Amino acid sequence: MLRISLAGMTAAIIASALAAPAQAQQPSPFATTKVTDNVYIFRYANHQSMFVVTPAGVIATDPISERRPAKPYIDAIQAVTKAPIKYVVYSHLHFDHIAGGKPFKDLGAVFVAHRNAQARIAALKPADVVAPDQAVDGKRNIALGGTTLELNYVGKNHSDSTLVMRLPKEKIIFTVDWIPIQGIQFRGMADTYVPDIEEGLKKVIAMDWETLIPGHPGPGGKQTGTKDNAREELAYLQDLSAAVKQAVADGKSYADAQKEIKLPKYETWPNYNAFLSMNIERYFDFWNRGI
Ligand SMILES: [Zn+2]
Repeated sequence: MLRISLAGMTAAIIASALAAPAQAQQPSPFATTKVTDNVYIFRYANHQSMFVVTPAGVIATDPISERRPAKPYIDAIQAVTKAPIKYVVYSHLHFDHIAGGKPFKDLGAVFVAHRNAQARIAALKPADVVAPDQAVDGKRNIALGGTTLELNYVGKNHSDSTLVMRLPKEKIIFTVDWIPIQGIQFRGMADTYVPDIEEGLKKVIAMDWETLIPGHPGPGGKQTGTKDNAREELAYLQDLSAAVKQAVADGKSYADAQKEIKLPKYETWPNYNAFLSMNIERYFDFWNRGI
């Protein structure tokens, strides 16, 4: 209880600091967005999670509370429903998305993740990550209060533990960090499997859905995308791969490829300038060294 009340105090301090006149122009660090009658996005600074509300309880996803209190997320859920939080489903292993879930555990939630995430958490024992109670291999459905949430594993992509959570009735998917809304892949694509990520994108594009909820808002704070965003991301990776393959065939060095390859179709995407050369290096390793 002490831990919860301290977390609450921290949230109150943050809230009052943001309410101070000097900070009046700052946007709130968190917000809830209704996507459909039963599906919501909780945004916490630049991370976002989906939660699904049913009469029998709530299916929450990533706690997104690394080094900050989870209370704003729990408060956001409880502002919508008094039904208990039954599940927390991890999108993939990465701690910036899954840390901070203990207050959800204290409320009795069952934690679910892909088998590979469960194994890695068991090996690393990160202090602020709740170990999953249940593991998913290829596919699992969570049925609760008349809603079905599919947990699909489509292979290795941005990690080897990424789930594609799909609500078949609502035609919504929630999957994190590999299908951004007009985004260059993050930095050097750490933990990303090439070219498996392209095969995974094809599988997701073939699924039946209309609305994408990614793990971070896109340009202009856009919180949801469409299948076109998945098609564009696949096109970006294929164009990048083809350009780097050619550079390797031409005998270019890493440095020359990074300097010379331009993909103007994507230059308006955020982080094009910051990350393109790092994305090039990742694909250079694949075409040059087979890794
Ligand atoms: Zn990630």
